[in-house]
Amino acid sequence: TKTVTDVICPFCGTLCDDLEVVVSDDGKELLEVYNACAIGAEKFLHSQAKDRITRPRMRQDDGSWKEISYDEAIEYTARMLTDAKKPLMYGWSSTNCEAQSVGSEIGEAVGAVMDNTATVCHGTSLIAVQDIGIPSCTLGEIKNRADRILFWGCNPAHAHPRHMSRYSIFPRGFFTGKGHTGRKMIVVDPRPTDTASLADIHLQIEQGRDYELLDALRVAFKGEKLPDVVAGIPKEKIYEVAETLKSGRFAIIFFGMGVTQSLGKNHNIDEAIAVTRDLNEYTKAAIMPMRGHYNVTGSGQVWGWLFGFPYAVDLSRGFARYNPGETTSNDLLRRDEVDAVFVLGSDPGAHFPFSSVKKIYNRPSVAIDPHETPTTEVCKVHVPVAFVGVEIGGCAYRMDNVPIETRKVVEPPEGMMTDEEFLKRVLTRVKEIQGV
Ligand code: SF4
Repeated sequence: TKTVTDVICPFCGTLCDDLEVVVSDDGKELLEVYNACAIGAEKFLHSQAKDRITRPRMRQDDGSWKEISYDEAIEYTARMLTDAKKPLMYGWSSTNCEAQSVGSEIGEAVGAVMDNTATVCHGTSLIAVQDIGIPSCTLGEIKNRADRILFWGCNPAHAHPRHMSRYSIFPRGFFTGKGHTGRKMIVVDPRPTDTASLADIHLQIEQGRDYELLDALRVAFKGEKLPDVVAGIPKEKIYEVAETLKSGRFAIIFFGMGVTQSLGKNHNIDEAIAVTRDLNEYTKAAIMPMRGHYNVTGSGQVWGWLFGFPYAVDLSRGFARYNPGETTSNDLLRRDEVDAVFVLGSDPGAHFPFSSVKKIYNRPSVAIDPHETPTTEVCKVHVPVAFVGVEIGGCAYRMDNVPIETRKVVEPPEGMMTDEEFLKRVLTRVKEIQGV
């Protein structure tokens, strides 16, 4: 056997880069994974599953699957996209930037709506950033400098299991040599989560009252008067949190879907960014979204360079339009505005409302995914591909917008295509059909 070191974990936005993977001498079998958390290790080990699907499949009228060739899957996908008036090309968060870039070319050629998982996650954060900008930093700066850590509406103990040990709470950095004993941890969450149980201060806010509490913090920073209770939190606690944040050398606010998708949405994030700005009058402070899929940040970057917008990009008029609420996947599906659905690197079958999933089921549809998922169960064609970051490398962006080159550690099953290869073949076929 041989051990591959400095392997990147392609699961969550933390993109841990210190994994060690043991593979057989011929590089065809992955045997052990070290340093990863349970969900990260499972992703590597799943590539070795004996029941893995290795050939494309097409749904038959009786609901059963029929195995088809990659050529047939490419033909179906290219025809579906060119026949459609306005196809939706959704996902893009669990693949590399190289595949995202080829997918964008296809989207332009067929006049698709390109949308990624931010649409049900941090899309509201992106709107807020467009509104008022964002004072942010890298995870390395946090490890080395931050001594006040605030998690708002997120639960890294479960969603980003090594975030606290590698970057935010426990590591000893250049100016944070005492590790977690030199840091103060604050959690704002209506639930008593495993993350909250580690906190010095847990503000158990009333559900959906984030905006008010953020506003109250801005008042408390200035030492002005607050009502006795705001969002279920006594004012003494709010003053205490304000003083704790102000007294640090470097404060960081991490936030998640508990605040991006609750009442107020992007306005909550406007306010959280304003809190961060205010805090910079007293100390150094930054704010960062806890991005979920390992390369959702990358798809925003790629589309940012290509189209000027990070998600919900409507190319159907021949130029890029962006209007979240109108050009976002669930709104398009609900209004029956898209007539074909292409999914790659995401699982809307598991994350979208049932009404949207039914719309996918009733349309021509293709799911590109190494796994069998709720999405592959409702699509007409399922194309299995190699695991990015395990069986093929490529660029991914960590949650702090740092690009990291993922590594190939093991060979994919024989004859299996990668996302990028499949998309390149579809692009060629689309151009042939269109005669360009
Ligand atoms: Fe992978 Fe995230 Fe776990 Fe790190 S924290 S090992 S990136 S799943």
